Amino acid sequence: MNIETRVKINNFVVKELLDLIFTFGKNPVGRSILTPIVERSIRLAVKNVPGPVGLPGVINDKYYMLRAMVHSGIRFGSTSKFVNTIVNKAILSDLRANKEKEFRARFGFDPPGFMTISPAKRCNLRCRGCYANSASEKDQLPYDIFSRTIKEMRDLWGARFVVISGGEPMLYRWGDKTILDIFRENQDSLFLMYTNGSLINERVAKEFSTLGNITPAISVEGMRETTERRRGKGFFEKIARTLEILKRYRVTFGISITATRENAEEIVSDEFIDFYFNKMGAAYAWVFHYMPIGRDIAPDLIPTPEQRVYLWEKSWEIIRERKIMFADFWNHGPVSDGCISAGRPGGYFYIDWQANVYPCVFFPYAGANLKEIYEKGGNLNDLINLPLHKRIREWQFKYWHEGDLLRPCPIRDHYLMAKRFVIETGAKPADEAAKEILFDPDYEKKMAEYDIDLAQKTEKIWERVYRNGTRKAV
Ligand code: SF4
Repeated sequence: MNIETRVKINNFVVKELLDLIFTFGKNPVGRSILTPIVERSIRLAVKNVPGPVGLPGVINDKYYMLRAMVHSGIRFGSTSKFVNTIVNKAILSDLRANKEKEFRARFGFDPPGFMTISPAKRCNLRCRGCYANSASEKDQLPYDIFSRTIKEMRDLWGARFVVISGGEPMLYRWGDKTILDIFRENQDSLFLMYTNGSLINERVAKEFSTLGNITPAISVEGMRETTERRRGKGFFEKIARTLEILKRYRVTFGISITATRENAEEIVSDEFIDFYFNKMGAAYAWVFHYMPIGRDIAPDLIPTPEQRVYLWEKSWEIIRERKIMFADFWNHGPVSDGCISAGRPGGYFYIDWQANVYPCVFFPYAGANLKEIYEKGGNLNDLINLPLHKRIREWQFKYWHEGDLLRPCPIRDHYLMAKRFVIETGAKPADEAAKEILFDPDYEKKMAEYDIDLAQKTEKIWERVYRNGTRKAV
């Protein structure tokens, strides 16, 4: 059976079972009957379509993450409308399968799966070190570009998953349009919105619930003391109130965490997990390790290589044993088959408020500007073969077979190489800081030393756990 048929069968089976479990899963009897069947089908699905890397440990990770994702949704009690948006529209849609074919015929590989868009730079908070502090109302993406991007993703790639980032997206205003208009006008797309949560009130939560196509991820830094040290006094209570409102309206929400050298242990502690998941009811977490870009660059805040390995170990405990979707953007490279930047198959591009297009949110060098592309009569497909994106993708494809996916990131884990790509392709720095670090020998030294140190730690784990699959097999 060829891979296309296997993908189709997989999608069909998983889709039907997910529909069933989210319909009957609230009932304990229904859940106890359906859960083992769903878990078994996930196991078969990841074995059937192992992805480009396909090593035993990689298949294990994919299984445990998908299983945690399903359990997280059931535990939260996600509405059937939301589940329908995810399962039938955003992820396993027929539209995607058809567009993949067209795209593959033209470019030779599958299309990107989503986009991250930051429509507004400004924010209503003044957090320590955040670039949004200095933003004005002018730093906003014109509504027509914002809206057209989402439509083109759907039309050209069959992609209906959009990540909204910031500044604070709830502050976005273009004439009489707000971010809610984007959600209303694109009801067949799923939006994951990173937000500080302070502008979500009952009215907004109610609308999110009715639309059923938004999942907000509220930023937290840790428990009360750590969160308030960065975000200001009283903010912890504010977040707790927002989470309660979202829970009441059954808006599936998660939390997003920036891991630093200061909070790395706290964010995987039992106290933290119990509070946000058991007490406040978050469905999932996204962890982003501090990246030394933007304002107040501080390479010494990056979690140390030891902390990174610790986060890897603890996060998998949370996923496997507590069945919580606790996704770590860097450490879980095996789940995504490595770096997902530069528009690789199923991957993404990042667009900021000026319509600059970057390979990734954490890669502050732009290959093009979408506004200019549109003015010249182009479309999103013109991003695919820009020199920077091509260079990164060539590396990604090679790295699938040669690399260690616990170090998936070109810009952080292979800094000297990424720097070379930027200089050789003439990519444009996002800001003054990005320009300065490109020629700062101290910065380069710190990043390069970090990479060497990390490699010494992860390569052994990669061989033992992933290549040889010594963890309990699925
Ligand atoms: S560039 Fe780094 S942070 Fe961005 S998707 Fe790739 S691995 Fe992740």
